[in-house]
Amino acid sequence: MMEKKLRQEAKALLEQKRVDWIVGFESGSLKFTTTPLITRNVADTERLVINPFITNNLANFLTEIEGRVGIVAKGCESRSIVSLIQDNKVDREDLVILAVPCPGIIDLAKIERLVGKDRDELDDITRDGDKVSVKVDGKKKDFAVADVLFDHCLACELPTPTKYDILLGEPRQPTPDLKVSGQNIAGLKALTSAERWTKWQDEMSRCIRCYACRNVCPACFCERCFVEETEPQWVMPMPQWPDNLIFQVIRNIHVAGRCTDCGECERVCPVNIPLRSLTREMYDIVDELFKFKSGMDKDALPLMVHYEQEEAEEFFK
Ligand code: SF4
Ligand code: SF4
Ligand code: SF4
Repeated sequence: MMEKKLRQEAKALLEQKRVDWIVGFESGSLKFTTTPLITRNVADTERLVINPFITNNLANFLTEIEGRVGIVAKGCESRSIVSLIQDNKVDREDLVILAVPCPGIIDLAKIERLVGKDRDELDDITRDGDKVSVKVDGKKKDFAVADVLFDHCLACELPTPTKYDILLGEPRQPTPDLKVSGQNIAGLKALTSAERWTKWQDEMSRCIRCYACRNVCPACFCERCFVEETEPQWVMPMPQWPDNLIFQVIRNIHVAGRCTDCGECERVCPVNIPLRSLTREMYDIVDELFKFKSGMDKDALPLMVHYEQEEAEEFFK
């Protein structure tokens, strides 16, 4: 239903010249994947899809597209869009937001682990309410949806965008389960600081510095990233664990107050570094210290330009 409405609305937006571009999802070349579709061609709108595998955060493309854009937005994407508006990176007047009330996105890696098979060996994956059925070797296995969604979807605070122009389905209420979603982070916190240091040293030793985590992130929009600076040279370009760690520490500080816990950086990491353990922890610290949740209010000042007397260290007062 949502998909049909999306295609109709996107077609009308292009035909009526209300937008120059449509940004959405189409089926990917691999099984159970989608890929971003960015088009100004009316006929392409027939390729738009909405399914349990629309993973990317499409807000990431907004800083690169010129003209008016009709963009498909799940809740987390809508928060990233709002965050970009707050930072004056995107003009709300140039957007038509096609809002998807989002039931959560299926983490294929979790399904592969649960059934012990690679995606190419799976025949079908379907979702019916709170149940996900996986067909493999002609047999059907059922899983609770909470066992197969991305961790960040289990913590989702805004499944339905609040700022939109066209709503594509019935709004969904948030039902965050922070305990299940935060299991990995709780496991890290339970370690001693020495054990945690060793753990991150091991994790960062595997980083190949491909920068996929940065490139996929809508909150990482600097024209020239500090890692590419040579005067001064903040980090060495070759991947070594101390520089890899510094890269992530600085990146996390840069996206503090902009990160919407969309989970994309962790999903795209080719060596499966648990990056959400850093980004979600920073998200929670920002919330705890400043009562600030990224991308919830387009009229709020961005976190880093907002100052209140009681926040100041003694020597500033
Ligand atoms: S975080 Fe929320 S809005 Fe984003 S994909 Fe997950 S459930 Fe959907
Ligand atoms: S995506 Fe993973 S491997 Fe690539 S730079 Fe980021 S942390 Fe390193
Ligand atoms: S840091 Fe990661 S989780 Fe946060 S907005 Fe960027 S891609 Fe999404």
